[in-house]
Amino acid sequence: MIILVVNAGSSSLKYQLINSIDGEVYASGNCERIGIAGSKITYKRPDKADFEPLKIVMDLSNHSVAMEKVISLLADKEVGCIKSMDQIDAVGHRVLHGGEKFAGSYVINKDVIEAIKDCIPLGPLHNPANLAGIEACQKAMPGKPQVAVFDTAFHQTMPEEAYMYALPYSYYEDYGVRRYGFHGTSHQYVSQEAAKALGRPAESLKIITCHLGNGSSLAAVKYGKCVDTSMGLTPLAGVPMGTRCGDIDPAVIKYVMEEDPSLTIKDIDRIMNKESGVLGISGVSSDFRDLAQASEQGNQRAALALKMFAYHVKKYIGSYAAAMGGVDAVVFTAGIGENTPEIREAAVEGLGFMGIKVDPAKNLSCNRVGGDISAADATVKVLVIPTNEELMIARETERLTKQA
Ligand code: AMP
Repeated sequence: MIILVVNAGSSSLKYQLINSIDGEVYASGNCERIGIAGSKITYKRPDKADFEPLKIVMDLSNHSVAMEKVISLLADKEVGCIKSMDQIDAVGHRVLHGGEKFAGSYVINKDVIEAIKDCIPLGPLHNPANLAGIEACQKAMPGKPQVAVFDTAFHQTMPEEAYMYALPYSYYEDYGVRRYGFHGTSHQYVSQEAAKALGRPAESLKIITCHLGNGSSLAAVKYGKCVDTSMGLTPLAGVPMGTRCGDIDPAVIKYVMEEDPSLTIKDIDRIMNKESGVLGISGVSSDFRDLAQASEQGNQRAALALKMFAYHVKKYIGSYAAAMGGVDAVVFTAGIGENTPEIREAAVEGLGFMGIKVDPAKNLSCNRVGGDISAADATVKVLVIPTNEELMIARETERLTKQA
């Protein structure tokens, strides 16, 4: 099936026209600065090697205007990849937060839209933007089947001992305070691909998936189901990230606010989300390529940031092996997981006692393409698998529209 995958942000709308069966991408791009001066659309044709990507500067006053333009580009006589809208079978939307309402993907109808609205307090920045993307598609393509795929849904199988926080129980009952987890589409995709690569059913495997990018999270996937994940109520928890602090003692907040009474809770939120992580430690950058360079040039704090990141990933790998009673495969994915052999090596260094060991040559040579990087005598497979959230969304959209 040909699926239009849409990932709408508050002022952006990323799109991909993709074949859900073979994963071929016919067109992709981004509408940027929607509703802001200087908006533009990029349009690429990954299926055509000689196609010069387009950058069109134009007024995009809202998501509907942006969607109309995307559709006109897709079906354009000169640059388009389809003859008409009829060739698009369905639309798949990435939706950030499904709370406890969505444990899977859903065909969008009035009830689903209401339930996504109910989750706005949990995803106050993203869910309204995702809804704007859905409304824009409904307006531009009336009657076209649309599916919502949630970033949190894959993690809904966690047992309560994994998702509950040790706070007064009423916080869970009254406000839904618990671990939800994110990057679910990526963890689901790479765990399924890992099972395929190992030639075994996912239902027989214990897999730890490490999605290491600007935002990072790990998941323990036991017999095809997520049993724990490192992000929490929000994507701030877990390992240190590009700019997010990850797990800290919550008492740090009170302590710092008492030390500096000028700080507001909004400041703390900004600092922990945007000024912490490897950027906060190094003072250099949130980008691991910059950190590697600075570290090579002798910057001690950049070196520390890299060491801390790998150390925390390692701690999660150990704890998830314990949570699952063993592990068959560790999977690295996303920008850092796919491209940074030093981090992969450091994250499993010393784990030979539990059968996890990488082959240094294989580890160096697998960037971007992926592959098995485990040492010959390792009993646990270490795999690099490029993530493809759009393909996962397209597959889910196909599965649900065929059922409908
Ligand atoms: P992501 O959020 O998955 O796009 O990951 C982005 C992060 O991956 C960047 O901040 C970089 O630190 C890291 N990275 C390292 N090497 C590369 C590479 N060759 N291409 C893209 N990202 C890379």
